Amino acid sequence: MITIVGGGMAGSECAYICAQAGLKVRLYEMRGPHQTPAHKTDYLAELVCSNSFKSQDPATPAGQLKTEMKALGSLLIPTAEKHSVPGGSALAVDRDHFAKAITETLSDHTNIEIIREQFTPEMAEQLLGSGGQLVIATGPLTSEPLGQWLAELTGQEHLYFYDAVSPTVDASTLNMDVIFAQSRYDKGEGDDYLNCPFNKEEYDAFITALVAADRVPLKDFEDPKYFEGCKPIEEIASKGHDSLRFGNFKPVGLRDPRTDRRPWAALQLRPENREKTLYSLVACQTRMKWGPQLEVLKMVPGLENAEFVRMGVIHRNTYIESPKVLTPWLEFKSRPGLFLAGQITGVEGYVESAAMGIYVAHTLIRRSQGLEPVVPSRPSAYGSLISHLSDAETEREFAPMNINWGLFPDPEPFIKNKGERKIAKLAAAETAFNSWLAELGLLTPVS
Ligand SMILES: Cc1cc2nc3c(=O)[nH]c(=O)nc-3n(C[C@H](O)[C@H](O)[C@H](O)COP(=O)(O)OP(=O)(O)OC[C@H]3O[C@@H](n4cnc5c(N)ncnc54)[C@H](O)[C@@H]3O)c2cc1C
Repeated sequence: MITIVGGGMAGSECAYICAQAGLKVRLYEMRGPHQTPAHKTDYLAELVCSNSFKSQDPATPAGQLKTEMKALGSLLIPTAEKHSVPGGSALAVDRDHFAKAITETLSDHTNIEIIREQFTPEMAEQLLGSGGQLVIATGPLTSEPLGQWLAELTGQEHLYFYDAVSPTVDASTLNMDVIFAQSRYDKGEGDDYLNCPFNKEEYDAFITALVAADRVPLKDFEDPKYFEGCKPIEEIASKGHDSLRFGNFKPVGLRDPRTDRRPWAALQLRPENREKTLYSLVACQTRMKWGPQLEVLKMVPGLENAEFVRMGVIHRNTYIESPKVLTPWLEFKSRPGLFLAGQITGVEGYVESAAMGIYVAHTLIRRSQGLEPVVPSRPSAYGSLISHLSDAETEREFAPMNINWGLFPDPEPFIKNKGERKIAKLAAAETAFNSWLAELGLLTPVS
Protein backbone atom coordinates (compact mmCIF):
# COMPACT_ATOMS: atom_id res chain seq x y z
CA MET A 1 0.00 0.00 0.00
CA ILE A 2 1.30 3.43 -1.01
CA THR A 3 -0.02 6.55 0.70
CA ILE A 4 0.04 9.76 -1.30
CA VAL A 5 -0.86 13.11 0.21
CA GLY A 6 -2.14 15.80 -2.16
CA GLY A 7 -4.34 15.21 -5.19
CA GLY A 8 -2.79 17.97 -7.29
CA MET A 9 -0.58 17.60 -10.35
CA ALA A 10 2.09 15.41 -8.77
CA GLY A 11 -0.14 13.35 -6.48
CA SER A 12 -2.59 12.53 -9.27
CA GLU A 13 0.16 11.32 -11.61
CA CYS A 14 1.88 9.37 -8.85
CA ALA A 15 -1.35 7.64 -7.80
CA TYR A 16 -2.26 6.71 -11.37
CA ILE A 17 1.13 5.27 -12.33
CA CYS A 18 1.37 3.24 -9.12
CA ALA A 19 -2.20 1.98 -9.49
CA GLN A 20 -1.68 1.04 -13.14
CA ALA A 21 1.29 -1.06 -12.05
CA GLY A 22 -0.96 -2.93 -9.65
CA LEU A 23 -0.02 -1.18 -6.40
CA LYS A 24 -2.79 -0.28 -3.97
CA VAL A 25 -2.92 3.49 -3.38
CA ARG A 26 -4.52 5.63 -0.71
CA LEU A 27 -4.73 9.23 -1.91
CA TYR A 28 -5.44 11.94 0.64
CA GLU A 29 -6.83 15.25 -0.61
CA MET A 30 -8.00 17.86 1.88
CA ARG A 31 -10.08 19.92 -0.53
CA GLY A 32 -13.71 19.35 0.21
CA PRO A 33 -13.45 19.78 3.96
CA HIS A 34 -10.50 22.27 3.74
CA GLN A 35 -9.76 24.65 0.88
CA THR A 36 -6.40 26.17 0.00
CA PRO A 37 -6.28 29.94 -0.57
CA ALA A 38 -5.88 29.45 -4.34
CA HIS A 39 -7.94 26.40 -5.38
CA LYS A 40 -11.61 26.95 -6.25
CA THR A 41 -13.01 23.43 -6.74
CA ASP A 42 -12.84 19.96 -5.22
CA TYR A 43 -11.43 18.44 -8.40
CA LEU A 44 -8.15 16.60 -8.36
CA ALA A 45 -5.42 18.17 -10.55
CA GLU A 46 -7.04 21.59 -10.50
CA LEU A 47 -5.08 24.27 -12.34
CA VAL A 48 -4.98 27.20 -9.97
CA CYS A 49 -4.08 29.94 -12.41
CA SER A 50 -3.29 29.81 -16.13
CA ASN A 51 -4.78 26.97 -18.18
CA SER A 52 -1.54 26.24 -20.03
CA PHE A 53 0.72 23.21 -19.95
CA LYS A 54 3.35 25.19 -21.87
CA SER A 55 4.62 24.55 -25.38
CA GLN A 56 3.41 21.56 -27.38
CA ASP A 57 6.34 21.92 -29.77
CA PRO A 58 8.40 18.76 -29.19
CA ALA A 59 11.55 20.72 -30.04
CA THR A 60 11.34 22.81 -26.84
CA PRO A 61 12.32 21.96 -23.25
CA ALA A 62 8.67 21.72 -22.15
CA GLY A 63 7.85 19.68 -25.27
CA GLN A 64 10.68 17.24 -24.60
CA LEU A 65 9.60 16.87 -20.97
CA LYS A 66 6.04 16.09 -22.03
CA THR A 67 7.30 13.51 -24.53
CA GLU A 68 9.26 11.84 -21.74
CA MET A 69 6.29 11.97 -19.37
CA LYS A 70 4.02 10.29 -21.90
CA ALA A 71 6.57 7.54 -22.48
CA LEU A 72 6.59 6.95 -18.72
CA GLY A 73 2.81 6.51 -18.65
CA SER A 74 1.49 10.01 -17.82
CA LEU A 75 -2.23 10.43 -17.25
CA LEU A 76 -2.26 14.23 -17.19
CA ILE A 77 -0.63 15.02 -20.52
CA PRO A 78 -2.86 12.79 -22.72
CA THR A 79 -5.90 14.04 -20.77
CA ALA A 80 -4.78 17.64 -21.37
CA GLU A 81 -4.45 16.89 -25.09
CA LYS A 82 -7.94 15.41 -25.11
CA HIS A 83 -9.40 18.49 -23.44
CA SER A 84 -7.28 21.09 -25.18
CA VAL A 85 -8.57 24.44 -26.35
CA PRO A 86 -6.88 26.71 -28.91
CA GLY A 87 -3.77 28.15 -27.27
CA GLY A 88 -1.36 28.86 -30.12
CA SER A 89 1.80 26.85 -29.58
CA ALA A 90 0.84 26.13 -25.96
CA LEU A 91 -1.10 23.11 -24.76
CA ALA A 92 -4.04 25.01 -23.25
CA VAL A 93 -6.91 23.12 -21.66
CA ASP A 94 -10.50 23.53 -20.61
CA ARG A 95 -9.62 23.48 -16.93
CA ASP A 96 -12.93 22.11 -15.63
CA HIS A 97 -13.23 19.33 -18.21
CA PHE A 98 -9.62 18.43 -17.65
CA ALA A 99 -9.78 18.27 -13.84
CA LYS A 100 -13.16 16.49 -13.92
CA ALA A 101 -11.73 13.83 -16.25
CA ILE A 102 -8.71 13.28 -13.97
CA THR A 103 -10.97 13.10 -10.91
CA GLU A 104 -13.20 10.52 -12.59
CA THR A 105 -10.31 8.37 -13.81
CA LEU A 106 -8.73 8.24 -10.36
CA SER A 107 -12.04 7.77 -8.52
CA ASP A 108 -12.99 4.89 -10.82
CA HIS A 109 -9.65 3.11 -10.50
CA THR A 110 -9.98 -0.11 -8.54
CA ASN A 111 -6.52 0.28 -7.00
CA ILE A 112 -7.09 3.83 -5.71
CA GLU A 113 -8.95 4.88 -2.59
CA ILE A 114 -9.47 8.64 -2.33
CA ILE A 115 -9.80 10.04 1.16
CA ARG A 116 -11.04 13.61 1.52
CA GLU A 117 -9.24 14.55 4.70
CA GLN A 118 -6.40 16.78 5.81
CA PHE A 119 -3.36 14.60 6.40
CA THR A 120 -1.60 15.47 9.65
CA PRO A 121 1.92 15.06 11.08
CA GLU A 122 0.56 12.47 13.52
CA MET A 123 -0.75 10.38 10.64
CA ALA A 124 2.61 10.68 8.88
CA GLU A 125 4.55 9.53 11.95
CA GLN A 126 2.22 6.61 12.51
CA LEU A 127 2.47 5.49 8.91
CA LEU A 128 6.25 5.79 8.71
CA GLY A 129 6.60 4.15 12.13
CA SER A 130 4.84 1.09 10.79
CA GLY A 131 7.16 0.87 7.78
CA GLY A 132 4.77 2.45 5.24
CA GLN A 133 5.72 4.26 2.04
CA LEU A 134 4.54 7.88 2.07
CA VAL A 135 4.61 10.46 -0.71
CA ILE A 136 4.02 14.08 0.24
CA ALA A 137 2.81 16.01 -2.81
CA THR A 138 1.05 18.87 -1.08
CA GLY A 139 2.37 21.62 -3.31
CA PRO A 140 3.10 25.29 -2.84
CA LEU A 141 0.16 25.73 -0.45
CA THR A 142 0.84 22.78 1.86
CA SER A 143 -1.36 22.85 4.98
CA GLU A 144 0.37 24.58 7.85
CA PRO A 145 0.76 21.66 10.30
CA LEU A 146 2.29 19.45 7.63
CA GLY A 147 4.57 22.29 6.52
CA GLN A 148 5.74 22.77 10.11
CA TRP A 149 6.35 19.04 10.44
CA LEU A 150 8.50 19.08 7.30
CA ALA A 151 10.37 22.11 8.63
CA GLU A 152 11.14 20.24 11.86
CA LEU A 153 12.19 17.17 9.94
CA THR A 154 14.55 19.03 7.64
CA GLY A 155 15.68 21.81 9.95
CA GLN A 156 13.88 25.16 9.54
CA GLU A 157 16.64 26.49 7.31
CA HIS A 158 15.89 23.87 4.65
CA LEU A 159 12.19 24.62 4.22
CA TYR A 160 10.90 27.78 2.57
CA PHE A 161 7.43 29.23 2.88
CA TYR A 162 8.12 31.94 0.32
CA ASP A 163 9.87 32.19 -2.99
CA ALA A 164 11.99 35.29 -3.20
CA VAL A 165 13.70 34.36 -6.38
CA SER A 166 16.19 36.42 -8.31
CA PRO A 167 16.01 36.07 -12.09
CA THR A 168 18.24 33.56 -13.88
CA VAL A 169 19.92 33.95 -17.27
CA ASP A 170 21.34 31.56 -19.84
CA ALA A 171 25.14 31.95 -19.64
CA SER A 172 25.62 31.63 -23.38
CA THR A 173 23.61 34.82 -23.97
CA LEU A 174 25.69 37.15 -21.75
CA ASN A 175 27.73 39.97 -23.29
CA MET A 176 31.19 39.05 -22.06
CA ASP A 177 32.72 42.11 -23.75
CA VAL A 178 31.16 44.09 -20.90
CA ILE A 179 30.77 41.57 -18.08
CA PHE A 180 33.91 40.55 -16.20
CA ALA A 181 34.70 37.63 -13.91
CA GLN A 182 35.97 38.52 -10.44
CA SER A 183 35.04 37.63 -6.88
CA ARG A 184 34.87 40.60 -4.54
CA TYR A 185 38.37 41.41 -3.21
CA ASP A 186 39.47 38.42 -5.31
CA LYS A 187 38.30 36.09 -2.55
CA GLY A 188 37.29 32.54 -3.52
CA GLU A 189 37.58 31.09 -6.97
CA GLY A 190 38.53 33.87 -9.42
CA ASP A 191 35.68 33.34 -11.81
CA ASP A 192 32.95 32.28 -9.42
CA TYR A 193 31.17 35.60 -9.88
CA LEU A 194 30.50 37.58 -13.01
CA ASN A 195 30.00 41.34 -12.69
CA CYS A 196 27.81 43.67 -14.72
CA PRO A 197 29.44 47.09 -14.22
CA PHE A 198 27.34 50.28 -14.32
CA ASN A 199 28.71 53.76 -14.99
CA LYS A 200 26.84 56.69 -13.42
CA GLU A 201 24.58 57.38 -16.42
CA GLU A 202 23.66 53.71 -16.81
CA TYR A 203 22.89 53.42 -13.10
CA ASP A 204 20.73 56.58 -13.08
CA ALA A 205 18.69 55.41 -16.06
CA PHE A 206 18.30 51.93 -14.55
CA ILE A 207 17.06 53.23 -11.18
CA THR A 208 14.55 55.59 -12.83
CA ALA A 209 13.08 52.73 -14.88
CA LEU A 210 13.15 50.33 -11.92
CA VAL A 211 11.20 52.62 -9.61
CA ALA A 212 8.59 53.33 -12.29
CA ALA A 213 8.04 49.67 -13.31
CA ASP A 214 4.67 47.99 -12.68
CA ARG A 215 4.64 45.58 -9.74
CA VAL A 216 2.60 42.44 -9.02
CA PRO A 217 0.10 43.18 -6.22
CA LEU A 218 0.18 40.99 -3.12
CA LYS A 219 -2.50 38.27 -2.93
CA ASP A 220 -4.84 38.25 0.09
CA PHE A 221 -3.01 35.25 1.58
CA GLU A 222 0.46 36.73 1.13
CA ASP A 223 1.87 38.48 4.12
CA PRO A 224 4.62 41.04 3.45
CA LYS A 225 6.18 40.42 6.85
CA TYR A 226 7.67 37.23 5.39
CA PHE A 227 9.60 39.32 2.95
CA GLU A 228 11.94 40.97 5.48
CA GLY A 229 15.49 40.13 4.51
CA CYS A 230 14.58 39.66 0.87
CA LYS A 231 13.18 43.07 0.01
CA PRO A 232 12.46 43.60 -3.68
CA ILE A 233 15.07 45.75 -5.41
CA GLU A 234 12.40 48.19 -6.64
CA GLU A 235 11.35 48.82 -3.04
CA ILE A 236 14.94 49.38 -1.94
CA ALA A 237 15.48 51.75 -4.86
CA SER A 238 12.27 53.65 -4.02
CA LYS A 239 13.75 54.52 -0.61
CA GLY A 240 16.68 56.40 -2.15
CA HIS A 241 18.37 56.75 -5.52
CA ASP A 242 21.72 55.45 -4.24
CA SER A 243 20.47 52.79 -1.85
CA LEU A 244 21.12 49.89 -4.25
CA ARG A 245 24.58 51.25 -5.05
CA PHE A 246 25.39 51.08 -1.33
CA GLY A 247 23.59 47.77 -0.87
CA ASN A 248 22.79 44.93 -3.25
CA PHE A 249 24.73 46.49 -6.15
CA LYS A 250 27.75 47.73 -4.20
CA PRO A 251 30.91 47.82 -6.31
CA VAL A 252 33.48 47.56 -3.49
CA GLY A 253 36.29 45.08 -4.03
CA LEU A 254 35.72 45.06 -7.81
CA ARG A 255 37.80 46.48 -10.65
CA ASP A 256 36.47 46.72 -14.20
CA PRO A 257 39.28 45.58 -16.54
CA ARG A 258 37.95 47.85 -19.33
CA THR A 259 38.44 51.03 -17.27
CA ASP A 260 40.81 49.70 -14.60
CA ARG A 261 38.55 51.42 -12.08
CA ARG A 262 35.91 50.47 -9.61
CA PRO A 263 32.51 50.62 -11.35
CA TRP A 264 29.84 53.08 -10.12
CA ALA A 265 27.69 50.09 -9.19
CA ALA A 266 27.77 46.39 -10.07
CA LEU A 267 25.21 43.66 -10.36
CA GLN A 268 26.79 40.29 -9.65
CA LEU A 269 25.93 36.99 -11.31
CA ARG A 270 26.49 33.65 -9.60
CA PRO A 271 26.57 30.20 -11.24
CA GLU A 272 23.43 28.14 -10.75
CA ASN A 273 24.90 24.79 -11.67
CA ARG A 274 28.18 22.89 -11.90
CA GLU A 275 28.38 23.34 -15.65
CA LYS A 276 27.90 27.13 -15.35
CA THR A 277 25.27 27.15 -18.08
CA LEU A 278 22.98 29.25 -15.86
CA TYR A 279 23.67 32.33 -13.72
CA SER A 280 21.36 33.99 -11.22
CA LEU A 281 21.32 37.73 -10.60
CA VAL A 282 22.56 38.05 -7.02
CA ALA A 283 20.21 39.76 -4.53
CA CYS A 284 17.80 40.81 -7.27
CA GLN A 285 14.48 39.66 -5.79
CA THR A 286 11.67 41.55 -7.42
CA ARG A 287 7.90 41.81 -7.72
CA MET A 288 8.06 43.65 -11.03
CA LYS A 289 5.59 42.32 -13.59
CA TRP A 290 7.38 40.11 -16.11
CA GLY A 291 7.11 42.45 -19.13
CA PRO A 292 8.52 45.53 -17.37
CA GLN A 293 10.97 43.32 -15.47
CA LEU A 294 12.51 42.12 -18.69
CA GLU A 295 12.75 45.67 -20.07
CA VAL A 296 14.37 47.01 -16.89
CA LEU A 297 16.84 44.13 -16.45
CA LYS A 298 17.96 44.33 -20.05
CA MET A 299 19.20 47.84 -19.18
CA VAL A 300 21.86 46.23 -16.97
CA PRO A 301 25.18 46.48 -18.83
CA GLY A 302 26.00 43.10 -20.33
CA LEU A 303 22.44 41.76 -20.14
CA GLU A 304 21.11 43.55 -23.26
CA ASN A 305 20.64 40.28 -25.13
CA ALA A 306 20.42 37.92 -22.17
CA GLU A 307 17.85 35.14 -22.30
CA PHE A 308 16.00 35.06 -18.99
CA VAL A 309 15.11 31.46 -18.18
CA ARG A 310 13.44 32.39 -14.90
CA MET A 311 11.99 35.75 -13.95
CA GLY A 312 12.17 37.17 -10.45
CA VAL A 313 9.19 36.42 -8.24
CA ILE A 314 8.19 36.81 -4.64
CA HIS A 315 5.21 34.69 -3.76
CA ARG A 316 3.95 32.18 -1.28
CA ASN A 317 5.46 28.78 -2.01
CA THR A 318 6.39 25.90 0.24
CA TYR A 319 9.47 24.05 -0.92
CA ILE A 320 12.38 22.10 0.42
CA GLU A 321 16.08 22.56 -0.16
CA SER A 322 16.13 19.22 -1.93
CA PRO A 323 19.87 18.95 -2.67
CA LYS A 324 20.53 18.99 1.08
CA VAL A 325 17.79 16.69 2.32
CA LEU A 326 16.63 14.40 -0.47
CA THR A 327 18.27 11.61 -2.44
CA PRO A 328 18.27 12.00 -6.24
CA TRP A 329 15.16 9.78 -6.26
CA LEU A 330 13.39 12.28 -3.94
CA GLU A 331 13.35 10.18 -0.76
CA PHE A 332 14.37 11.83 2.51
CA LYS A 333 17.94 10.89 3.34
CA SER A 334 17.00 10.83 7.03
CA ARG A 335 13.61 9.06 6.70
CA PRO A 336 13.59 6.08 4.35
CA GLY A 337 10.11 5.50 2.98
CA LEU A 338 9.24 9.20 2.95
CA PHE A 339 9.21 10.77 -0.53
CA LEU A 340 8.39 14.22 -1.83
CA ALA A 341 6.88 14.92 -5.23
CA GLY A 342 5.74 18.01 -7.11
CA GLN A 343 6.49 21.66 -6.58
CA ILE A 344 7.53 21.12 -2.96
CA THR A 345 10.72 19.46 -4.25
CA GLY A 346 11.86 22.68 -5.93
CA VAL A 347 10.52 22.37 -9.43
CA GLU A 348 8.11 25.02 -10.67
CA GLY A 349 4.99 24.70 -12.78
CA TYR A 350 2.15 22.29 -13.50
CA VAL A 351 4.08 20.14 -15.97
CA GLU A 352 7.29 19.91 -13.96
CA SER A 353 5.33 19.10 -10.78
CA ALA A 354 3.36 16.37 -12.54
CA ALA A 355 6.64 15.02 -13.95
CA MET A 356 8.01 14.55 -10.44
CA GLY A 357 4.90 12.57 -9.45
CA ILE A 358 5.57 10.14 -12.30
CA TYR A 359 9.23 9.91 -11.34
CA VAL A 360 8.54 8.98 -7.72
CA ALA A 361 5.92 6.44 -8.82
CA HIS A 362 8.50 4.54 -10.88
CA THR A 363 10.85 4.34 -7.92
CA LEU A 364 8.01 3.02 -5.74
CA ILE A 365 7.13 0.41 -8.36
CA ARG A 366 10.75 -0.70 -8.57
CA ARG A 367 10.99 -0.88 -4.80
CA SER A 368 7.88 -3.05 -4.65
CA GLN A 369 9.74 -5.41 -7.01
CA GLY A 370 12.88 -5.38 -4.85
CA LEU A 371 14.75 -3.21 -7.38
CA GLU A 372 16.99 -0.18 -6.75
CA PRO A 373 15.95 3.28 -8.04
CA VAL A 374 17.37 4.32 -11.40
CA VAL A 375 18.25 7.99 -11.73
CA PRO A 376 17.69 9.52 -15.20
CA SER A 377 20.69 10.23 -17.42
CA ARG A 378 21.79 13.85 -17.12
CA PRO A 379 21.04 15.18 -20.66
CA SER A 380 17.37 14.09 -20.67
CA ALA A 381 14.68 16.55 -19.56
CA TYR A 382 14.14 14.42 -16.45
CA GLY A 383 17.90 14.26 -15.86
CA SER A 384 18.10 18.04 -16.16
CA LEU A 385 15.39 18.62 -13.57
CA ILE A 386 16.81 16.00 -11.21
CA SER A 387 20.25 17.54 -11.58
CA HIS A 388 18.76 20.86 -10.40
CA LEU A 389 17.17 19.09 -7.41
CA SER A 390 20.25 17.16 -6.40
CA ASP A 391 23.27 19.30 -7.22
CA ALA A 392 24.61 19.85 -3.70
CA GLU A 393 28.07 20.94 -4.85
CA THR A 394 27.20 24.33 -6.33
CA GLU A 395 27.01 27.17 -3.79
CA ARG A 396 23.70 28.79 -4.68
CA GLU A 397 20.44 30.02 -3.28
CA PHE A 398 18.36 26.98 -4.15
CA ALA A 399 15.09 28.11 -5.74
CA PRO A 400 12.30 26.47 -7.72
CA MET A 401 13.00 26.09 -11.42
CA ASN A 402 10.96 25.24 -14.47
CA ILE A 403 12.31 23.26 -17.38
CA ASN A 404 14.41 25.48 -19.67
CA TRP A 405 17.27 25.30 -22.16
CA GLY A 406 19.83 26.35 -19.58
CA LEU A 407 19.18 23.24 -17.49
CA PHE A 408 20.19 20.97 -20.36
CA PRO A 409 23.97 20.45 -20.49
CA ASP A 410 25.90 22.18 -23.29
CA PRO A 411 27.18 19.90 -26.04
CA GLU A 412 30.87 19.13 -26.07
CA PRO A 413 32.59 20.66 -27.89
CA PHE A 414 30.48 23.81 -27.38
CA ILE A 415 28.39 24.84 -30.41
CA LYS A 416 28.33 28.61 -30.84
CA ASN A 417 25.25 28.81 -33.05
CA LYS A 418 22.22 28.97 -30.73
CA GLY A 419 19.81 27.09 -33.01
CA GLU A 420 22.29 24.30 -33.66
CA ARG A 421 23.14 24.13 -29.97
CA LYS A 422 19.47 23.59 -29.10
CA ILE A 423 19.14 20.84 -31.70
CA ALA A 424 22.19 19.12 -30.22
CA LYS A 425 20.78 19.43 -26.69
CA LEU A 426 17.51 17.83 -27.77
CA ALA A 427 19.24 15.02 -29.61
CA ALA A 428 21.32 14.29 -26.51
CA ALA A 429 18.18 14.44 -24.35
CA GLU A 430 16.38 11.93 -26.53
CA THR A 431 19.30 9.48 -26.52
CA ALA A 432 19.75 9.84 -22.77
CA PHE A 433 16.06 9.36 -22.12
CA ASN A 434 15.92 6.22 -24.25
CA SER A 435 18.84 4.74 -22.35
CA TRP A 436 17.12 5.56 -19.05
CA LEU A 437 13.94 3.87 -20.25
CA ALA A 438 15.95 0.83 -21.21
CA GLU A 439 17.57 0.82 -17.77
CA LEU A 440 14.15 1.08 -16.15
CA GLY A 441 13.21 -1.89 -18.27
CA LEU A 442 9.60 -0.77 -18.20
CA LEU A 443 8.60 0.75 -21.46
CA THR A 444 9.30 0.82 -25.17
CA PRO A 445 11.75 3.62 -25.99
CA VAL A 446 10.43 6.66 -27.89
CA SER A 447 12.11 7.54 -31.18
C1 LIG B 1 -1.39 31.22 -6.80
C2 LIG B 1 -0.63 30.28 -7.67
C3 LIG B 1 -0.64 30.43 -9.04
C4 LIG B 1 0.08 29.56 -9.89
N1 LIG B 1 0.03 29.70 -11.24
C5 LIG B 1 0.65 28.80 -12.05
C6 LIG B 1 0.54 28.88 -13.48
O1 LIG B 1 -0.13 29.75 -14.00
N2 LIG B 1 1.19 27.96 -14.23
C7 LIG B 1 1.93 26.96 -13.69
O2 LIG B 1 2.49 26.14 -14.44
N3 LIG B 1 2.05 26.86 -12.33
C8 LIG B 1 1.45 27.75 -11.51
N4 LIG B 1 1.55 27.67 -10.15
C9 LIG B 1 2.34 26.65 -9.60
C10 LIG B 1 1.40 25.44 -9.49
O3 LIG B 1 0.58 25.46 -8.40
C11 LIG B 1 2.13 24.27 -9.26
O4 LIG B 1 3.12 24.25 -10.18
C12 LIG B 1 1.37 22.98 -9.34
O5 LIG B 1 -0.02 23.01 -9.17
C13 LIG B 1 2.01 22.22 -8.25
O6 LIG B 1 1.62 20.92 -8.33
P1 LIG B 1 1.69 20.07 -7.01
O7 LIG B 1 1.09 18.75 -7.33
O8 LIG B 1 3.03 20.11 -6.44
O9 LIG B 1 0.72 20.88 -5.99
P2 LIG B 1 -0.83 21.19 -6.15
O10 LIG B 1 -1.28 21.04 -7.53
O11 LIG B 1 -1.04 22.50 -5.47
O12 LIG B 1 -1.51 20.04 -5.30
C14 LIG B 1 -1.30 19.92 -3.93
C15 LIG B 1 -2.57 19.37 -3.31
O13 LIG B 1 -2.31 19.03 -1.97
C16 LIG B 1 -3.45 19.33 -1.19
N5 LIG B 1 -3.01 19.41 0.22
C17 LIG B 1 -2.20 20.34 0.79
N6 LIG B 1 -1.98 20.01 2.09
C18 LIG B 1 -2.68 18.86 2.33
C19 LIG B 1 -2.85 18.02 3.48
N7 LIG B 1 -2.25 18.28 4.65
N8 LIG B 1 -3.63 16.92 3.37
C20 LIG B 1 -4.24 16.61 2.19
N9 LIG B 1 -4.12 17.38 1.08
C21 LIG B 1 -3.33 18.48 1.14
C22 LIG B 1 -3.95 20.61 -1.80
O14 LIG B 1 -5.31 20.81 -1.52
C23 LIG B 1 -3.69 20.38 -3.29
O15 LIG B 1 -4.80 19.83 -3.93
C24 LIG B 1 0.85 28.53 -9.30
C25 LIG B 1 0.87 28.38 -7.92
C26 LIG B 1 0.14 29.23 -7.10
C27 LIG B 1 0.17 29.03 -5.62
